Amino acid sequence: MLARPSKLRPPGSEPTRGADRSTLSVLEIGLTGGIGSGKSTVAAMLVERGATLLDADAIVRELQFPGMPVFVAMAERWGDRILDDAGGLDRQVVADIVFADPDELAALNGIVHPAVGDEMTRRRRELAATDATVILDIPLLVESGHSGLAGVIVVDVDPDVAVERLVSGRGFTAVDARNRISRQASRTERLDRADLVVDNSGTLDDLVHQVDLAWEWIATLERPEPGAEVRRIGSRAEDG
Ligand code: ATP
Repeated sequence: MLARPSKLRPPGSEPTRGADRSTLSVLEIGLTGGIGSGKSTVAAMLVERGATLLDADAIVRELQFPGMPVFVAMAERWGDRILDDAGGLDRQVVADIVFADPDELAALNGIVHPAVGDEMTRRRRELAATDATVILDIPLLVESGHSGLAGVIVVDVDPDVAVERLVSGRGFTAVDARNRISRQASRTERLDRADLVVDNSGTLDDLVHQVDLAWEWIATLERPEPGAEVRRIGSRAEDG
């Protein structure tokens, strides 16, 4: 489901009830970070402050519901062995297949990435002529490129801390968590792309303070001209 623009507003912005949509333009901020860095936690805090969230992982999961196009394409490629007893995707089996063989991983990416890119672009276009402040939670934003966004927030944490949190909070094994981290962009590559870094090395209370600062920073960003084209995210060649 498309998240509706919140009634809450970033500090300093004016209410636009009844405003002419042709005068409105969305503010889009990319949110990224390594696995287990705290992206979802930060995204939820930004939504509490009034942001609208587009979550790439959540969209992927929607597109993987039984009968949806990504599910169908995956079932065509790998057959019944990737289905669980209820007929849904068995994600662990899929992970075991694709992380054991780069060709299989490329095949999965070839199915998932264009579909999620299309759906993300469709939802962004629906929000384009609104005054929403949209957070695009995209785990692989640095790897894929991010032209056209007003800013990029990177949630940063020491990978050892991320592993601990994934093990204690999310049921990962340490080996699996480390393997996944090693397949992503490095911490430095990500920090190089950041317009704002949210340091999540401290407690959740510390993180609240960081997110308050991020929300203040977001309020300083410029919205695009109304009617500006919403271009697809993910083409490195377009990156500025
Ligand atoms: P993924 O890459 O898998 O989507 P993520 O970057 O969205 O992960 P979260 O799910 O937000 O990360 O956080 C990972 C785990 O760490 C969660 O269990 C979360 O509750 C916990 N966590 C996040 N920040 C902190 C913190 N500052 N202190 C303690 N635990 C935290």
